[in-house]
Amino acid sequence: MSEKKTRPHCPICRAEVELLDQNKDFPFCSERCKSKDLGKWFGGAYLVPGRAASPEEIVEEVRRPRQND
Ligand SMILES: [Zn+2]
Repeated sequence: MSEKKTRPHCPICRAEVELLDQNKDFPFCSERCKSKDLGKWFGGAYLVPGRAASPEEIVEEVRRPRQND
């Protein structure tokens, strides 16, 4: 009687995923899918209405010389 292991599936590409002890990217099948998922979350962050100023905008604000000094 052979032991049948059920493997989870990658949430990104649906491929079978190696279990955690053999797969540092678990629950993803690969580093590629792992970073794809992270990208999805970071991308979504920019869709939030009323976003905060970007670091570049803040730098511009600080560098601007003051007119009424
Ligand atoms: Zn995958």
